[in-house]
Amino acid sequence: MISLEKLFDLTGGTCCYCGCQTYLPRSEPRAVVAARFGLALGQPGVKKALRRRTATREHIVRKADGGGDNRRNLTIACHLCNITRGAASPDQHRAAIARAVAAGIHPNHTPKIDLTKGALRRARRAVGLCPEIAESSHVG
Ligand SMILES: [Zn+2]
Repeated sequence: MISLEKLFDLTGGTCCYCGCQTYLPRSEPRAVVAARFGLALGQPGVKKALRRRTATREHIVRKADGGGDNRRNLTIACHLCNITRGAASPDQHRAAIARAVAAGIHPNHTPKIDLTKGALRRARRAVGLCPEIAESSHVG
């Protein structure tokens, strides 16, 4: 399988869903990475904010749907977009992410770090990124 580092080089490290700039953990000092995103180590919530921007390998066709580990099926997504995809198709997920960015609630596209409890879950629910949550809370 193609390495995360190689994928990062090929894609420029841009998230395929939200378009944010990701980074490779362990590739450079965390303080340098934080500064690039306008953050400072020691600032509340900075660990969380950095984790959400971590580069992850994304299967365009999900492995569960038979997608392979070949280069044509692999790209880079930020950690946040990757973990919120669920069973959505790439187009569905890209549209949902675009709504979140436009609404100013995608954490990788907001200037401030939202530190309140459940912030991420509320944001996901607001744009339908978590269909299972939306469905379970839907009564009639
Ligand atoms: Zn993203």
